[in-house]
Amino acid sequence: MTKQLRWGLVGASRIAAEWIIPAIRATPGNEVVAVQGSNAARVSEYARTNDIPLTCESLEELLSAGVDAVYISNTNEKHARAAIAALNAGKHVLGEKPMAMTEQDAREMVSLAKHKNLVLAINHHLRGMNSHRKLRELVESGVLGDLVAVRAMFGVLLPQHNRGWRTDSASAGAGVFFDLTVHDADTLHFILGEKFVRVAAFTSNNGISAKGIEDGVATIAQTASGLTVQITESFAIEHARTTLELHGTKASVFADDVLLQRPGGRLELSVQGNRQEIPIEHENAYPRVIAAFADAVRGVGRPLVSGEDGLASLRFALAARTASTTGRVIEI
Ligand code: NDP
Repeated sequence: MTKQLRWGLVGASRIAAEWIIPAIRATPGNEVVAVQGSNAARVSEYARTNDIPLTCESLEELLSAGVDAVYISNTNEKHARAAIAALNAGKHVLGEKPMAMTEQDAREMVSLAKHKNLVLAINHHLRGMNSHRKLRELVESGVLGDLVAVRAMFGVLLPQHNRGWRTDSASAGAGVFFDLTVHDADTLHFILGEKFVRVAAFTSNNGISAKGIEDGVATIAQTASGLTVQITESFAIEHARTTLELHGTKASVFADDVLLQRPGGRLELSVQGNRQEIPIEHENAYPRVIAAFADAVRGVGRPLVSGEDGLASLRFALAARTASTTGRVIEI
């Protein structure tokens, strides 16, 4: 029998409760053994509600609790420190996005994982969605022909329960760049099979984020092959669904409602303007993230999104932010 992978959770967060704890429990060979949070009463209540045997107030306590892997989902400014401590303690790491708030910290995480021969993965879960896998397949197989234009629209009205540090605290990594831009960068790197090399961006504040923090970003970016991509991201769009459009010389594909946590959405292939639905069997992406991670820990395959992939998405978001503040096109 394979040894159980014993997970410790760093951060008593909503995403862990809603998606990751169920995903770990749904994946044979994985169990949640401990959770760490900064507030004793809150983390105890969280452990009780989520049926987690051990609560820890400090990271050091969690790392000494016999865990094999940690899932880091506290606020963004804490990700890198937690990951570096966990890797130094010999633990495999699944980190939330953004993997860090600086390129330097992200690079340190990547080289530490390599040096220690540990798995470092980042939870850009959209790579696990069948809709996005199909989009990648359409690009790779040549069904679309040569791509001539791509558009992404990740606009939502941020629910009240997701406001707070995410909209108001610059020191905790608030704003769209660290929340949505990193996701879009990873998704597009995955679907297009190549990385962005330059970016220009503008931001807006529509009253969802605190003054001085963006709640809207409009980006134009170019990949290594010269493909131009337009991306709109927002916490303030109430009446639309998230979308992706890939336009090629042979066909276009329109993906509707596909940039969310829950699986779902619709893909349509368009040839000469005639649209036909592409059937997709939707699946929850988070158990896939966990299964690929656990396999990689056991030496089989690689995680869905590696530390290097996370670094690439972070570098894009940081470059887009610099582009917006300087008004210049930034080479990545
Ligand atoms: P939460 O706001 O739910 O939790 C983040 C941290 O905030 C917790 O770890 C906790 O800190 C603190 N906290 C939470 N609730 C309270 C409270 N009531 N009072 C005081 N402190 C509180 O964050 P999310 O779950 O929305 O996001 C966590 C991370 O996951 C972020 O980095 C985000 O970017 C990422 N994320 C990723 C998604 C994905 O699909 N990949 C989707 C959603 C989020 P502590 O534990 O230190 O006590």
